[in-house]
Amino acid sequence: MLSYRHAFHAGNHADVLKHFVLQQVLSYTNQKDKPYWYIDTHAGAGMYALDRGYAVQNAEFEQGIVRLWQANDLPAPLQEFVDLIRQCNSAQALKHYPGSPSVAQALLRASDRMRLFELHPSDAKLLRQHFKPAGRQVLIEQEDGFAGLKAMLPPPPRRAVVLIDPPYEEKHDYQRVIEALKDSLQRFATGTYLLWYPLLQRAEVDLLTDRLHKLGAVSWLHATLSIHAPAEDGFGMHGSGMFVINPPWTLPETLKQTLPYLKDKLALDAGAQYTLEHHIP
Ligand code: SAM
Repeated sequence: MLSYRHAFHAGNHADVLKHFVLQQVLSYTNQKDKPYWYIDTHAGAGMYALDRGYAVQNAEFEQGIVRLWQANDLPAPLQEFVDLIRQCNSAQALKHYPGSPSVAQALLRASDRMRLFELHPSDAKLLRQHFKPAGRQVLIEQEDGFAGLKAMLPPPPRRAVVLIDPPYEEKHDYQRVIEALKDSLQRFATGTYLLWYPLLQRAEVDLLTDRLHKLGAVSWLHATLSIHAPAEDGFGMHGSGMFVINPPWTLPETLKQTLPYLKDKLALDAGAQYTLEHHIP
């Protein structure tokens, strides 16, 4: 069943956390003069209009990227993130928001490659249209991203950043991300893996975080950002998390500087909070 369309959520608090961390990881990866692959198992449409279509229906971006766009006191790493969003917008107005493949495209060098998977026919079509001029640097497959990832590891340049960002609309995604990470670590232990997940009041989420910690990765970082207290009726997403395996050693410090700001800026009530844990030997 493919009912999820990311356009409804483009630029919300969860995208901000995910894409900010992605930008930080790719910027760090670029410091070494050796090519790498960026693999996105659930790529979405690539770019989203914020002034029409699905995104305006709930206008989730107003409680996400808009708050940073309008800020004039951003810590330097978040200013870099907003600068990247500005590159996607020709004028002063915020009309477009990049999906993860476009965030990556802004950072990849000519020698790096992107491998994108997107199963939904409409979003896969939009993704192809968006990346049409990119030539052989970008390979797009309309197929299951979990199977696609398996086939790509280890990547030829022996360097890769992998984003795993499923919709979690079906329970089996919680199981599949763990299987994908386990398998990937066996095939290619030195890759950098970024997993996004929603903070929901569901047993599957608690089990997922428990299993992430039991994966046995030597080097990892776990950050969460909630923008409001969990709802009393038990429904809805109050935040999201990023679990990064083999993170840049600089990431904990960057997040220590920026998560308190993000929490304050994006808070909808006094229940907003962040967490940050890491083990980088
Ligand atoms: N990574 C994107 C970003 O940050 O801009 C957002 C991705 S969205 C959360 C999840 C996407 O996964 C949806 O576009 C959905 O159609 C797609 N999808 C769902 N199941 C999939 C699968 N098994 N393989 C590849 N794509 C899938």
